[in-house]
Amino acid sequence: MKRIPLYVKIIGGMLLGVLFAVAAIQFDGGVKFTKDWIKPFGNMFINLLKLIAVPLILASLVKGVSDLKDISKLSKMGLRAITFYLFTTVFAVSLGLAAVNIVKPGKSITEETRTAMLTTYGDQANEKSAEAHKQKDSGPLKSLEDIIPENIIAATSSNKMMLQVIFFALFLGIAMITLPEKKVKPFKDFFDSFNDIILRMIDLIMKGAPFGVFALMAALVAESPSMDIFKALGAYALTVIAGLLILIFVFYPTLIYLFTKRDPRKFLKQISPAQLLAFSTSSSAATLPVTMDVVENRVGVDNEVTSFVLPIGATVNMDGTSLYQAVAAVFIAQAFGMDLSLMAQLGIIVTATLASIGSAAVPSAGMVMLVIVLAQAGIPEAGLALIFAIDRPLDMVRTVANVTSDCTVATIIAKSINKLEDPKD
Ligand code: ASP
Repeated sequence: MKRIPLYVKIIGGMLLGVLFAVAAIQFDGGVKFTKDWIKPFGNMFINLLKLIAVPLILASLVKGVSDLKDISKLSKMGLRAITFYLFTTVFAVSLGLAAVNIVKPGKSITEETRTAMLTTYGDQANEKSAEAHKQKDSGPLKSLEDIIPENIIAATSSNKMMLQVIFFALFLGIAMITLPEKKVKPFKDFFDSFNDIILRMIDLIMKGAPFGVFALMAALVAESPSMDIFKALGAYALTVIAGLLILIFVFYPTLIYLFTKRDPRKFLKQISPAQLLAFSTSSSAATLPVTMDVVENRVGVDNEVTSFVLPIGATVNMDGTSLYQAVAAVFIAQAFGMDLSLMAQLGIIVTATLASIGSAAVPSAGMVMLVIVLAQAGIPEAGLALIFAIDRPLDMVRTVANVTSDCTVATIIAKSINKLEDPKD
């Protein structure tokens, strides 16, 4: 019998999850049942993915860097990665700004809806603002300072400190290259074997993916807010989603075609398991193990590139998030009847780019950092309450854009340094 491809199984799991929730909503106690008996399995699946993220970064980055024969290759890759990450992010914000200025979704919000939303979601919005202010109140070089951990055990204790783990792994790998081969061989063998074991663990976790996404989608649909909110915020949501779809299905495929001459449709199919997982988990960090797996084993990018470019990309390259922040900021301004000057909009390009880099690769992080974009542009932070209810579905799609961008940049860099092999399927 022909094996069913993983992405088909994942889509099947997602659809069944949605159907299950739609049926559960009809019954008394159905939503509670889904929350109590289905949702925990989704959380277990996400936990398994998160559990593997830190060991994976350590193992694969140390292996990847120590496999390089000289450091100049690393700086070449690093420079190209940063250039591409910045270019795609600035493009995404500009696209978001163009879309929101053309559609003007904020103009259709009535005074009544605005007041209702501000009352209902005001408290939750305040919580997010407080979270963001904690980050904002520190000095301009704080984020740079934070990259260097003072204690590696503490750094590996939270997925929010991924950049610190990356820094440590890079540092370790670089030190290994500079020592004679004989001296580092036992340690390198250990990391090579550690890496193989981690990859096997990811394989095993992915066997549960269709069930995991079933549970995640069922819980999400069962707990989703009423349709009225979607109606009130429909134009805003559609603007964000349209922008994200242009990124995913037009912008990245064009880059793939221009820089690698590969068939973009094939590329999208190869990375689809990672995209589907990004959609169901809303977390680039949780998706990272699968992103690395598909880019390496299906697209054919060498481990030297994936181990370096993808963990960094998952943490700092968030095009979908930056597009969303631009649209959301202008939408809130429009809803409050403010007209943003050209200068203010140009300012949004800068702050949304930085805010997306600073957003953690976890659900809702983009909304927390949006507060900084709002503050810089002088838009009322209370406006967060307007978009709160509809954030999750948008988070799902923007995470797909974030992950697709990481895969695209990794593939382009691999091509540029001759590290892109023939695709495996
Ligand atoms: N959930 C997004 C991610 O993990 C970040 C965000 O925009 O909230 O990529």
